[in-house]
Amino acid sequence: MTERGGERKFLADAALGRLARYLRMLGYDVVYLRDEGGAAVLRETLRTGRTLLTRRRDLACRDDVEAFWVEADAVSAQLTATAKHFGLRFTPEAMNRCLECNEPLTPVSKAEVEEGLPPHVRKTQNKFARCPNCGRLYWPGTHYARAVARLLEALRESR
Ligand SMILES: [Zn+2]
Repeated sequence: MTERGGERKFLADAALGRLARYLRMLGYDVVYLRDEGGAAVLRETLRTGRTLLTRRRDLACRDDVEAFWVEADAVSAQLTATAKHFGLRFTPEAMNRCLECNEPLTPVSKAEVEEGLPPHVRKTQNKFARCPNCGRLYWPGTHYARAVARLLEALRESR
């Protein structure tokens, strides 16, 4: 594969919401079509030229789209298989993309957000970023550490 993984853009079908979030953590640009059926997914893939990630074998086998059939049920196995197929890795955009809407995050100062924070977060965290689209606030907490561990394991297994 000549293309660098970080430049690849994905489109995930309705069955792959959790996989889409993990790929966004790695920094990949992933459009997730939560409510769309096969026809709409296909139309959007053709329109955008993105690489389709799908649970549907019939969509993955078409000649007119670049697609990967995600065969596994468990998200960790899906992640490993996808990472292996595309040679995925942490990109420069890793942990800097909204997991809900795929938008790159904007750094915000602690002073700007301090007031609304839970006390333990205010005490322990200093780096914050906000999604310009949905307004969600992100910081590297314990949840994040677990997600990174899972990603590292999947990438290791994909080698
Ligand atoms: Zn967002």
